[in-house]
Amino acid sequence: MKATQKQKEYAHQWYLMHGEEKLKKSKQYYWDNKKEISEKGKGYRKENREKIKQRKAEYYLKNKEKILLKQRARSKEYYQQNKKKINHRVAEYRKRNPEKCQRWHKNFHEKHSKEERREYARNWYKKNSKRAKLYACAYKSRKRSADGELIIQTIQRIYKDNVKRYGVLTCYLCRKPIISGDSCLEHRIPLSRGRTNKKHNLVIAHRSCNSKKHSKTVGEFIGI
Ligand SMILES: [Zn+2]
Repeated sequence: MKATQKQKEYAHQWYLMHGEEKLKKSKQYYWDNKKEISEKGKGYRKENREKIKQRKAEYYLKNKEKILLKQRARSKEYYQQNKKKINHRVAEYRKRNPEKCQRWHKNFHEKHSKEERREYARNWYKKNSKRAKLYACAYKSRKRSADGELIIQTIQRIYKDNVKRYGVLTCYLCRKPIISGDSCLEHRIPLSRGRTNKKHNLVIAHRSCNSKKHSKTVGEFIGI
């Protein structure tokens, strides 16, 4: 028999009025009979192992997307809260197990076609375009630099300092604001002449200004 609208409404009203009380009671009941209930549950689970397994599998299939979303959100939150710890652990693991990591990479390459890998990279780039630009920037600078590793944190710091100083992201060379994505890391004294990747030698500029400046120093570029 299906409940009529009226019945449903009544039940809802009843719940609003007595729901809390009922919850309290059943909680109390649970605490009073904890041992018994737990024994009962154990027995039931033992006898119906297959049934429970099947029910769980069915539930999972039916709600797969919802469950995955929830799991992902939870692990994301966990990562955000424990970022430093996790990153440190991963780095340590990589250092300790270089062959394992190499094997993992190899497996990944063998399992996925070139097209698949490209698609994966494309998706990652779409989702992390800001980060990707920073990585590319760091990579390029590292490749050219003679001293010191340029790390992401340094670049982020330089961007932050620039915004703090000018209000909006501003080109060091022409002093005009930079639209997001058009920026690039610039060496006050070019790597080809002074060669340093240290923070004090790094500023932000338009891509176009940077390429115009080429291997001049800032002084030479603005004509002083
Ligand atoms: Zn500029």
